[in-house]
Amino acid sequence: MQCESCGEDMEHEIVAIEVVIAGRRSSIDQPGWYCWSCKLGTHSAGELALSDDALAGLLGKRRQLRPGKAVVMRRG
Ligand SMILES: [Zn+2]
Repeated sequence: MQCESCGEDMEHEIVAIEVVIAGRRSSIDQPGWYCWSCKLGTHSAGELALSDDALAGLLGKRRQLRPGKAVVMRRG
């Protein structure tokens, strides 16, 4: 995989990152593609879910995924 920014080869690695929210912080191991030339990181949706979960954990909330419809019925 090549870096979109500088064209260097990116490496898939697990990097310890710190997530900070509402004055709290937590360290997680975040897998992803990283370019060490310009420090660009690219993550898949599944990989990003890790940091989402960490943020949700810091807020003391569980992510609530509700099934539902976004369709509004109009009368008449
Ligand atoms: Zn780069």
